[in-house]
Amino acid sequence: MLIRILTSGTFASNNYLVMCRKTHDAVLIDAGGDYEATMREVEDAGANLKYIFHTHGHLDHVAGDVELKAKAGVKTFIHKDDRFLVDRFKEQLMMFGLPDMEIPVIDEYIEHEQVLEAGGLNFRVIHTPGHSPGSVCYLVDDVLFSGDTLFRDSVGRTDLPGGSYEQLGDSVVNRLFVLDEGIKVYPGHGSATSIGYEKQNNPFFGKKTLKQAREI
Ligand SMILES: [Zn+2]
Ligand SMILES: [Zn+2]
Repeated sequence: MLIRILTSGTFASNNYLVMCRKTHDAVLIDAGGDYEATMREVEDAGANLKYIFHTHGHLDHVAGDVELKAKAGVKTFIHKDDRFLVDRFKEQLMMFGLPDMEIPVIDEYIEHEQVLEAGGLNFRVIHTPGHSPGSVCYLVDDVLFSGDTLFRDSVGRTDLPGGSYEQLGDSVVNRLFVLDEGIKVYPGHGSATSIGYEKQNNPFFGKKTLKQAREI
């Protein structure tokens, strides 16, 4: 498995190109919107980009869909509970004062514990509601793509439509912190971390002072 990180768009979301080294079939975890930069990575890796697996429906993770779909023919996947966010894409743009764009088209709606196959890789869907109702993490081998659910030393904000701080805490503790501590975590914003590190150090789950999460 080859993983390349691309940070793109107004809100600097992390997108990950995940390629099976054997088949060269690849998945993009989220699409922040920089088509040229994304395709440069795809070509450089010699990847055959087939799918975009979304961690959730916020604009900084889905804004690249329309162009990637039209020009590169990729298929898009998102958890069914974030369908409303994609439907309200234009409202999201207005909320953050961004210019109007076409609404992304989703090909498949996914569920908790579904396994998505791409090339020789298997992505296990872990539904982690809280940052948004349909937030998911993807576990592939010993790597977790955590979207805006879990960051290094932080968690995603829960004050946007459908967010719930209680649910987010529940998701992290009962669905992520139960995973192997050696699992590497690639979040939707900021630098990589691990399950073990976050269990030890994340201030949202320890006794240190809470801080306000800002990432959307
Ligand atoms: Zn978000
Ligand atoms: Zn985000």
